[in-house]
Amino acid sequence: MTDRKTELAGNLAKVEERITAACVAAGRKREEVTLIVVTKTYPASDVRILSELGVRHVAENRDQDAAPKAAACADLPLKWHFVGQLQTNKVRSVVGYADVVQSVDRPRLVTALSKEAVRAGREVGCLVQVALDAGASGRGERGGVAPDGIEELADLIGEAPGLRLDGLMTVAPLTGEYAGREQAAFERLVDLSTDLRRAHPAATMVSAGMSADLEQAVAAGATHVRVGTAVLGVRPRLG
Ligand SMILES: *Cc1c(COP(=O)(O)O)cnc(C)c1O
Repeated sequence: MTDRKTELAGNLAKVEERITAACVAAGRKREEVTLIVVTKTYPASDVRILSELGVRHVAENRDQDAAPKAAACADLPLKWHFVGQLQTNKVRSVVGYADVVQSVDRPRLVTALSKEAVRAGREVGCLVQVALDAGASGRGERGGVAPDGIEELADLIGEAPGLRLDGLMTVAPLTGEYAGREQAAFERLVDLSTDLRRAHPAATMVSAGMSADLEQAVAAGATHVRVGTAVLGVRPRLG
């Protein structure tokens, strides 16, 4: 194995151990939690190594970086998740490679995603990104819609051609009532998911938890954790 492959294999094994331990502690089955490796800022060569090591889900947050990387890895059996704030002028590009867009947070984005998905003849999974720190504007600083905006977006996605409503996503808030209370934040997301599934029973994904708080996410009931740093290392630049 190359040095990088050995390093990534070791990191993946540690993350795998953490997820397994968190599942055991929560009385959950390991298969209930899917690992998504966030490869932002890292090269396509790392994505290729991760695929060789058995990773099947990767995530990116900037289309400029993600589009060429996904193209370079088009031969690999990977599902690509888009997790960044998404401008409508990037939607056509993102729909070209993303299997799931986790950051849907406004009606205009739903319209744009639907139009481009139909145009491309693709079905794109969508998660409503929930901002648990949303201010009076009803929006979070890092994207996301306040909890009372979920239903409208979910219904729009549910009716939009080319789109599939898969569930909810959040990032642990740095401000507001949930600051420093990651598990409480993730429990709130799981409660919101329970409400959502009354009208949309297939929307079962709950994407929460990153390198620092994946245990809290698993304990709260997340179905997907998004882990970057703990697998790939500290990012060379802000991403
Ligand atoms: C970068 C990022 C992650 C991964 O964060 P780490 O702390 O590196 O594990 C997860 N989710 C989103 C939305 C991100 O942008």
